[in-house]
Amino acid sequence: MLLQGVGLQKHFPVTSALGLGAPRAWIKALDGVSVHVAEGETLGIVGESGSGKTTLAKLFLLLERPTGGSLSFDGKDVATFDRHDLARYRRAVQAVFQDPYSSLNPRMRVEQIVSEPLRPEDGMTRAMVRDRVAEALQLVGLRRDSGALYPHEFSGGQRQRIAIARALVTYPKFIVLDEPVSALDVSIRAQILNLLKRLQEQLGLAYVVISHDLAAARYLATRLAVMYAGKLVETGACEEVYRGPLHPYTEALLSAALPLHPSARRERIVLPGEVPNPMKPPAGCRFHPRCPKKLAECETVEPEWREVKPGRFTACHLW
Ligand code: SF4
Repeated sequence: MLLQGVGLQKHFPVTSALGLGAPRAWIKALDGVSVHVAEGETLGIVGESGSGKTTLAKLFLLLERPTGGSLSFDGKDVATFDRHDLARYRRAVQAVFQDPYSSLNPRMRVEQIVSEPLRPEDGMTRAMVRDRVAEALQLVGLRRDSGALYPHEFSGGQRQRIAIARALVTYPKFIVLDEPVSALDVSIRAQILNLLKRLQEQLGLAYVVISHDLAAARYLATRLAVMYAGKLVETGACEEVYRGPLHPYTEALLSAALPLHPSARRERIVLPGEVPNPMKPPAGCRFHPRCPKKLAECETVEPEWREVKPGRFTACHLW
């Protein structure tokens, strides 16, 4: 397995205004998430804001460290990484963020931007770096000599291609795509999604797509993980989850998205209330205050995470 998280937790302490004393409470942004990514696959992670999907992406990128559980890469726990392992991880795991306007420094030439993830310890000469940048630019469909230009000389879609080139420059195995097309014009989105798909096939990349855009997640993902209030509520092969969601939250989320076929009708399920306060998640099933199918036990007994059909996992008392 390329990447494996077991029981991942991320709890942030809430302290006094001065940051003194023991924590008054904990924000449970992520609360026991087990998830894996295999080589060459795309895991889509979907959920509303506050579900924990962005925190999970930050753990994958080592921008945050888990406060519980473990994360391993190529079978080795990242908590035991030495400097050499860390450098290898930072080359192997890259990211593309939502907004190509704010993620590219306007004062830097494209060559500088794209070569940013390369480190002096990679031992590359300037000519080698220039070649590597030109190769990455070509891979994303830009001219090899675009490196001399500045970001403002490109359109939004081209800027996202530059961000993708930056992610490719280290020859990664795995890229976290955080809302990769949400900030782009609708007319450009398909081009960037097609590019990501082509690159995956060509380079054998694994992706994690973090998205609230279910259409984009569905286009790229082979497996889908649905999150709610810091927990996974359902995982399975993407198309199977779309065709027959198991968990009432997944059902509601998908009911708001476009149907599989224009003639197919899916009744929209409008959920009452809000995503719960991560400092005080509800007892029992965290979704119970909003669940249209709630049972009596849902208020007190937390449902177990289990495989209820081959390859289909969920945590819900209905199963
Ligand atoms: Fe709804 Fe109960 Fe299932 Fe939670 S466990 S999703 S409240 S039916």
